[in-house]
Amino acid sequence: MRKIIIAGNWKMNNTISQAQDLIAALIKNGGDMHKVEVIVAPPFTALRSVYDILGQSSVHVAAQNLFWEESGAYTGEVSPMMVKEAGCKWVIIGHSERRQIFGETDETVNKRTAAALGSELKPIVCIGETLEERDAGQTFDVLHRQLDGGLKGLTEENMAKITIAYEPVWAIGTGKTATPAQAQEAHEKIRAKLSSMFGAGVAEKVRILYGGSMKPANALELLSLPDVDGGLIGGASLKAHDFVDIIKAGIEAEKL
Ligand code: PEP
Repeated sequence: MRKIIIAGNWKMNNTISQAQDLIAALIKNGGDMHKVEVIVAPPFTALRSVYDILGQSSVHVAAQNLFWEESGAYTGEVSPMMVKEAGCKWVIIGHSERRQIFGETDETVNKRTAAALGSELKPIVCIGETLEERDAGQTFDVLHRQLDGGLKGLTEENMAKITIAYEPVWAIGTGKTATPAQAQEAHEKIRAKLSSMFGAGVAEKVRILYGGSMKPANALELLSLPDVDGGLIGGASLKAHDFVDIIKAGIEAEKL
């Protein structure tokens, strides 16, 4: 049984005070959030203040990125221990915005993933094809390449701490969502690839999240798919009531 994860990626949104308001509203209205695994990923500057407000809540905090070195002359970068001490248990790695805007490659995804694991952080490794790649019939080649490169050198034991987020680039922030059939097909292929890399037992346990314009109106349908084990949510995670509704859809899907 793979427990559903509902993760909110706040991207470069929310100052410290705005982040505090959002997390307070989430805690107040979130209900039975412990029935699924809820994660929020604020910007670095707000990590600690969000973590402090969470207190005994079951919600966990994720960083949106990290660098693979422990310390040193890397202006502008943040190390695994820095985000860990700020309260993070999780870290998003290789988000398509990092790949497309900041030149992230499968190799750097791999280095960040290994560094996160080395600091006992749980990586959410993002993969997904662009519209051009989908139209050219390359979707599964791209996903395979990203999995081969991003997870290179990892052991079966490491994989117990890895979550994959399938985020078709054409669905992120566009309002376009993958159809349930497209999402299920991609997730199934990802699990089959993980099975060929690490064995069927490992692949059965890895949670694969869907990301790309998930919102209250489509969450239950997507979260109920057999190989969709949760959602990585951008835009809709910035409004407490929408995020709460998606969490409720996750709780509903968990029961099915
Ligand atoms: C994301 O940023 O991971 C994402 C899925 O964004 P959105 O939900 O806004 O499409």
